[in-house]
Amino acid sequence: MRDFSKDHRWLSLNTATVRKQGDFVQIVDACARMGIRAVSPWRDQVATVGLERAVKAVRDAGLELSGYCRGGMFPSDAAHRQDMRDDNRRAVDEAKALNAPCVVLVVGGLPQYSRPGSAPSKDLGAAHRQVEDGIAEMLEYAKSVNMPLAIEPLHPAYAADRACVNTTKHALDLCDRLDPASSGMLGVALDVYHIWWDPEIHAQIKRTGKKRLLAFHVCDWMVPTKDILNDRGMMGDGAIDIPSLRRAVEAEGFEGYSEIEIFSHDWWSKPMDEVLRTCIERHRTVV
Ligand code: ZN
Repeated sequence: MRDFSKDHRWLSLNTATVRKQGDFVQIVDACARMGIRAVSPWRDQVATVGLERAVKAVRDAGLELSGYCRGGMFPSDAAHRQDMRDDNRRAVDEAKALNAPCVVLVVGGLPQYSRPGSAPSKDLGAAHRQVEDGIAEMLEYAKSVNMPLAIEPLHPAYAADRACVNTTKHALDLCDRLDPASSGMLGVALDVYHIWWDPEIHAQIKRTGKKRLLAFHVCDWMVPTKDILNDRGMMGDGAIDIPSLRRAVEAEGFEGYSEIEIFSHDWWSKPMDEVLRTCIERHRTVV
């Protein structure tokens, strides 16, 4: 496993981590100031400053991207299907403009939550099928512009609203069916918050292999978790054995960024520089 204790060369900041403390350009400036070399932007943060300004900010600061968040939210009713397709194409185009290595897919759950306004349904099986069809279609376009797609399995607590792909196994089954040749254009984003509880995780990481390991996200699981979406912990403050998971992905050959992604009212209430300093310190000591 790589030694992170001496520097933070392999730290990437998911920009949602400090979304309340500044806009995208301010976050990029802060990263550059603190020697953070990569970010993973959210589309809404890019949209707020404008794509062109975002591209320029990243380029001027000399940053790399470790991903682009996010595409997906595939299940919808028929009336919202074209919007969904257009939206996902735009995600690919923006990722291309920003020179991202992949678009992270949060695949969506039931249609009324994935694409608000859609007719309500409780048919989770139908949602699973729409996810598979949606990825297949998006992958055609993504391949045409050479932009890999990374399916992020989410903790089962999100099955209804954010993602009905909840295990690494399910994500890899989709990869096997939609990209049997393992072309490098479809893989997974593994986030310790979503995968740490899974008794099969080490076997599934072995199954993933280097070609499909497109991103690795870190934070921590707080006990108790007061808010399933916005109470993620800083690495080292919770229950997850982060080094054992990093060791497992690196044993498969993963050599990309360790991306810090923390949605937390607690950390959003602290000054940006304090959060980034803490991220750097924890990256070096407990990741
Ligand atoms: Zn993540």
